[in-house]
Amino acid sequence: MSTINLQHAYFQNLDTKILQTAIEVGILRLDVLNKLISGNKWFKLLFYLQEVKQLKAECIASFGGTFSNHIVATASACNEAGIKCTIYIRGEKPALYSPTLLQVQKLNANLIFLNRNEYDNAKKKSGLINDVYFIPEGGSGELGVKGASTIYTTYKLENYDFILAACGTGTTIAGILRAANQNQTIIGINVLKGYEKLEQEIIEMTGGFKAKFTLLNDFHFGGYAKYNQQLIDFMNAFYLQQKIPTDFVYTAKLCYAATRLLNQNYFKPNSKLLLIHSGGLQGNMGIKQGLLQF
Ligand SMILES: *Cc1c(COP(=O)(O)O)cnc(C)c1O
Repeated sequence: MSTINLQHAYFQNLDTKILQTAIEVGILRLDVLNKLISGNKWFKLLFYLQEVKQLKAECIASFGGTFSNHIVATASACNEAGIKCTIYIRGEKPALYSPTLLQVQKLNANLIFLNRNEYDNAKKKSGLINDVYFIPEGGSGELGVKGASTIYTTYKLENYDFILAACGTGTTIAGILRAANQNQTIIGINVLKGYEKLEQEIIEMTGGFKAKFTLLNDFHFGGYAKYNQQLIDFMNAFYLQQKIPTDFVYTAKLCYAATRLLNQNYFKPNSKLLLIHSGGLQGNMGIKQGLLQF
């Protein structure tokens, strides 16, 4: 884990003239921390890797889908630490690997493809089993939440009125919510379609919290890892105007949601807003070439 310097992440103010708002909007650039252990993923892995070290496990196993940034992060962390890594993927072995799978393979991880049933059974495993340490799917679970809450403490997020982040498993926002104070509102942008029970899952993951919490379910653009021309146009415009690259699975949907909410005067005047740029840019290799201008 030596390649990550937490001080490299920085706060960038969005150009509010372009956004046509008087509200101060910042974005925490966690995407710059590391290309492979990107954004929120380092934080979610932090305590799992500590435990692996303590237990002297020789192999890590984890789970994810074809677009999972978590599997790249895990494979990369293992590769650096010289720990063997097995990644279980749900679905048949594809004839052509996605860029994410190729990346994982390049990082010397062993890929195992399981059908839905096998996968759902396998992913119940967690912790140390016969020398293999199992990290839950997407880096979720209590140690993932605990790690994610260090985003809040490391970057001192206590003075923002609103903190917005994209949610997949919801682990990251659960950690932030757990750490946040009663003057803050935490807003999650759900990138999954028709999975509104994520809100309750997040609440349970926190184990209790003081802040206000809302999960917005209408910014998924058709579902997980789905996109359309409108989202691509937004990503290009946002990059041109704000100099911020986003990924089509998570952070583009987050930034799109934030600009929509600002336009709808969702936030009370003089609020201070923070978006969490949770990284994931490697995933953009998975969309058609030439669509993005960055
Ligand atoms: C994994 C990921 C998320 C989702 O994090 P969860 O903790 O699963 O909610 C958000 N943004 C990016 C870029 C990610 O890679």
